[in-house]
Amino acid sequence: MADPKGFLTTGREVAKTRPVGERVKDWNEVYVPGSLLPIISKQAGRCMDCGIPFCHNGCPLGNLIPEWNDYAYREDWSAASERLHATNNFPEFTGRLCPAPCESACVLGINQPAVTIKNVEVSIIDKAWESGDVTPQPPERLSGKTVAVIGSGPAGLAAAQQLTRAGHTVAVFERADRIGGLLRYGIPEFKMEKSHINRRIEQMRAEGTKFRTEVEIGKDIDAAKLRRRYDAVVIAAGATVSRDLPVPGRELNGIHFAMEYLPLANKVQEGDLTVAPINAAGKHVVVIGGGDTGADCVGTAHRQGAASVTQLEIMPQPGEERNANQPWPTFPMLYKVTSAHEEGGERIYSVSTTHFEGDEDGNVQSLHLIEVEFKDGKLEQKAGTERVIPAQLVTLAMGFTGTDQGNGLVQQFGVGLDERGNIARDEDYATNVDGVYVAGDAGRGQSLIVWAIAEGRSAARGVDRFLTGASALHAPIRPTDRSLTV
Ligand SMILES: Cc1cc2nc3c(=O)[nH]c(=O)nc-3n(C[C@H](O)[C@H](O)[C@H](O)COP(=O)(O)OP(=O)(O)OC[C@H]3O[C@@H](n4cnc5c(N)ncnc54)[C@H](O)[C@@H]3O)c2cc1C
Ligand code: SF4
Repeated sequence: MADPKGFLTTGREVAKTRPVGERVKDWNEVYVPGSLLPIISKQAGRCMDCGIPFCHNGCPLGNLIPEWNDYAYREDWSAASERLHATNNFPEFTGRLCPAPCESACVLGINQPAVTIKNVEVSIIDKAWESGDVTPQPPERLSGKTVAVIGSGPAGLAAAQQLTRAGHTVAVFERADRIGGLLRYGIPEFKMEKSHINRRIEQMRAEGTKFRTEVEIGKDIDAAKLRRRYDAVVIAAGATVSRDLPVPGRELNGIHFAMEYLPLANKVQEGDLTVAPINAAGKHVVVIGGGDTGADCVGTAHRQGAASVTQLEIMPQPGEERNANQPWPTFPMLYKVTSAHEEGGERIYSVSTTHFEGDEDGNVQSLHLIEVEFKDGKLEQKAGTERVIPAQLVTLAMGFTGTDQGNGLVQQFGVGLDERGNIARDEDYATNVDGVYVAGDAGRGQSLIVWAIAEGRSAARGVDRFLTGASALHAPIRPTDRSLTV
């Protein structure tokens, strides 16, 4: 156990963010660099090393949290990093971006603020990179088997790293021009600087993983050819089809899916563009959808110099405390103030968009909304509550409907879909097609990075067993697991 009295003597302290006025003028991560290290060992010391660590179950990766908390408390960063990597390929991603369902399940959280697990995680991995502890781990011998991974998001990368380390020859195919999936082109720089992806890719290259960008499977290479060339295939193509809002005026200029808007801002940060062609500068911006993607649009619009930013959400505002339906240790839906929300803008809950209006050139100018309420389980509009708000740029951030079927990927492989339209798989992550596996959002539906990594690891084990008859790879979850979490 870290510090037997830590939870009694130390209060919870989290990473400090830079002042709003400073950080909206740049795209760097919002946190004060180096602010965690001086406090983090004491924070790790708040861990009670519970007999039954519920945090393990809260984390889809089954991260060995009390073990690395103990090492972090003792400042044995090398041992902490080894324990962290035992279950997580990319803690620098989850340590920055995970909503930390582990903290919702922390036993200390029953009557005190939970241990700041996510901050300990990111401190361990940042320290490990800094001290040269993260090195390539190439396999000792090759199996002679080949695997194609389709998609380079966290699921594809985790599967590829596990399978490469198991000795298979792995190629990752990505239709975009850079590796990373939504980590690269969805999540903005201010939430995670892309240098973290780049150095992982260098590590993976040094281990032997091959990367092929700007290759769309289903279009540039068909499924039959890929299956002939590779002994196994992992489909980790994400759930990239955005949910639309088919109301009058949707066709006006200036109304875009979030995933048309956000990647352009990321491309500016990559140095490909000087100015994002879809830009919030000087405009009244409305973001439709109250989730993480919406918050990323809000933060991006602030940095581009929007005149105003309004975020609309159809559901009621969540409470600030757990209610009876969401008891400890489940992951509760609570009112969240993200860094983007701290930076300004207005959030309007329980409203639905009825239509858009534009000017004579076809550019959107305003959005008409109406208040809604749940009655007998059904969402109903409240008569007489219509209003109009200015809207010169609208982003649709209402979730994703599933994996892209427009490129023939699903049809060419002949993989079956489940009742929600995701690629169906068995307990080993195998699809109905021999040797074809699926991991991440493509099989689970839109989810989280931590689930994508957990699925990538678990699917890798399934593939390894398929190729060799047995596997020593760690597989944290099964497809049906929902755990205590989101
Ligand atoms: C804007 C935004 C912000 C988010 N923020 C967070 C967050 O803060 N925390 C969190 O935990 N989760 C967040 N998420 C969710 C998280 O990013 C996803 O759950 C996760 O990235 C899914 O990983 P994946 O590997 O399954 O798919 P993806 O990351 O979507 O990667 C799939 C990749 O496959 C490629 N691809 C698709 N079809 C083909 C093909 N035919 N050939 C070749 N390549 C193909 C795509 O180009 C893409 O690069 C966010 C999502 C969005 C959209
Ligand atoms: S990956 Fe997420 S859930 Fe798991 S320990 Fe890290 S912050 Fe917690």
